[in-house]
Amino acid sequence: MPVDTNNKRLKTPRPRQFGGGLLILFTLLLLLNFVVPSFGSRLPQIAYSDFVAQVQAGKVERAIVGGDRIEFTLKPDPNTPTVDGQRSQVFETMPVALDLDLPKILRENRVEFGAPPPNNSGWIGTLLSWVVPPLIFFGIWRFLLSRGGGGPAALTVGKSKARIYSEGTTGVKFNDVAGVDEAKAELQEIVDFLKNAEKYTNLGAKIPKGVLLVGPPGTGKTMLAKAIAGEAGVPFFSISGSEFIELFVGVGASRVRDLFQQATQQAPCIVFIDELDALGKSRSQGGMFGGNDEREQTLNQLLTEMDGFDANTGVILLAATNRPEVLDPALRRPGRFDRQVVVDRPDKIGREAILNVHARTVKLSEDVDLATIAVRTPGFAGADLANLVNEAALLAARNNRQAVLMADFNEAIERVIAGLEKRSRVLNEQEKKRVAYHEVGHAIVGALMPGAGKVEKISIVPRGVGALGYTLQLPEEDRFLMAEDEIRGRIATLLGGRSAEELIFNNIVSTGASDDIQKATDLAERTVTLYGMSDYLGPVAFEKPQQQFLDGYSSPRRAVSPKVTEEIDREVKDIVDRAHHMALAILNQNRDLLETTAQELLTKEVLEGDTLRAKLNQAIVPDEMTSWLMTGNLPEGTSLMQATLA
Ligand code: ADP
Repeated sequence: MPVDTNNKRLKTPRPRQFGGGLLILFTLLLLLNFVVPSFGSRLPQIAYSDFVAQVQAGKVERAIVGGDRIEFTLKPDPNTPTVDGQRSQVFETMPVALDLDLPKILRENRVEFGAPPPNNSGWIGTLLSWVVPPLIFFGIWRFLLSRGGGGPAALTVGKSKARIYSEGTTGVKFNDVAGVDEAKAELQEIVDFLKNAEKYTNLGAKIPKGVLLVGPPGTGKTMLAKAIAGEAGVPFFSISGSEFIELFVGVGASRVRDLFQQATQQAPCIVFIDELDALGKSRSQGGMFGGNDEREQTLNQLLTEMDGFDANTGVILLAATNRPEVLDPALRRPGRFDRQVVVDRPDKIGREAILNVHARTVKLSEDVDLATIAVRTPGFAGADLANLVNEAALLAARNNRQAVLMADFNEAIERVIAGLEKRSRVLNEQEKKRVAYHEVGHAIVGALMPGAGKVEKISIVPRGVGALGYTLQLPEEDRFLMAEDEIRGRIATLLGGRSAEELIFNNIVSTGASDDIQKATDLAERTVTLYGMSDYLGPVAFEKPQQQFLDGYSSPRRAVSPKVTEEIDREVKDIVDRAHHMALAILNQNRDLLETTAQELLTKEVLEGDTLRAKLNQAIVPDEMTSWLMTGNLPEGTSLMQATLA
């Protein structure tokens, strides 16, 4: 359990009490404003002109002339009819501010007059008007102090928000982090230093002050940092880079100071800064205008503090980021974060190990083979695998099973890859037919292509956000490179769906292929601009990749001449066109297979495993395919295939 440095923070926040107090204060204020001034103002009102007429008629005996009201008493003459037929002798009227003649008229008619006493709201009003405003200020002050949960937050904005996990309570050990053996080996030294500091200091060795863990999200960087603290049994301070930056300028810097102060007091300990890039972005990136002063100041403070403490005090700074390329170079110079440990996505063995760690707490049935699951999940990071095991367990629980079956894992993998099944989305017959041919088109082309893995399953049950059907192709092993022919095969497979639609529906195609087309074009573009695979343009890079660990970001083009841009476009189109031709050729050649498989898929909705493979094994390879895969070119004189040829 995390132990908080600032105990007051742990108190439950009391915004409700404040809300109640505020209500009372407002009520009092209203009283003061509306009720109090109206004390004693229950006299009959008459118009000012009538009042003046009464004065001039000599009927008024006395008047109290205030700034906003005039109270007057009529002479006690029983023969005089009362104003407005009322019995009362005392009346009230609103003065007209511009009538400066009033005192003169009053004097001429011998009316006794004067100003009202200074305050007529009584002692309650006086009391309220003295007490309420200070109360309101006090309330607001209390509110500011208690913001953020009970403690005097406004006065401690500069305090670091790092939470401390005291000895051993991170509860994480190296055993819990799997599949990152190299990183663990690298960090083992730090654990050893924290445990036996003298061994190093006696020799005069200096331990690195800062270690930067870099890698894609969810690969276990935070876990590794906790594991170091857990193994060495030292306190663990954790804070996120973004928590340094707040509304007020200078807060970040004072938080950094406070963090280091706390850490030095608790040494030996681990300080972990997550998302270091939020704080340590390169200072040159602000450009000439509008850098971020607060961030720069915080970063400078961090650099200063890192220089300031002695390496052998036992404070070890760990930081994690998935964007090392944006970090300020000053952060990485020797003496600061000079060690960089890459925590990459796990390979097959690593995935199996991670699955084992997370399956420890889950009841598995006999048939579950974690090694097979590891094979089927290339590219999954530790967090994805943890999620997968949990999904499988949830599925088993939903089906009231006693243990998790392999089938649950398979369904969970599909959920993670393709999204939830949407049986409620009903397609009409025509759409269903189209989706079936589309998916079988992918499957037949995919089955003939090199290195793409086995086609495991085709389904026309809608899934996830947009998929109306899908073809699941799983690799047999981890792949780190893609050869040219495999890329061509991949593009043709992606276009297999559209090609099948063209063949079967007489060139009337649908919007269903847009995602495939997007991916195929991206891949074709990358072969030219990034992988240097174009014969004509040669091994020249036309793109500047900027993200090392985050997928899905496109990179900007280098400055290229319009002629080269044109050439790139032409090459990309050629690659896509030829792959499209080949997909059409394959499906044309295997038209019967396409028909029968699609019909079967329409009745069964899902085709998978050996039945599917036996079908796809019958696919015939067209003549020109082999040479196209090798060279990317079609035989001399081939005109691009049109679906109508079929
Ligand atoms: P990161 O900091 O790299 O984004 P985390 O360390 O926060 O990732 O990992 C998130 C979760 O994913 C962890 O709590 C753990 O359950 C799981 N996880 C990630 N990597 C691993 C791993 N190598 N071994 C075991 N579990 C892992």
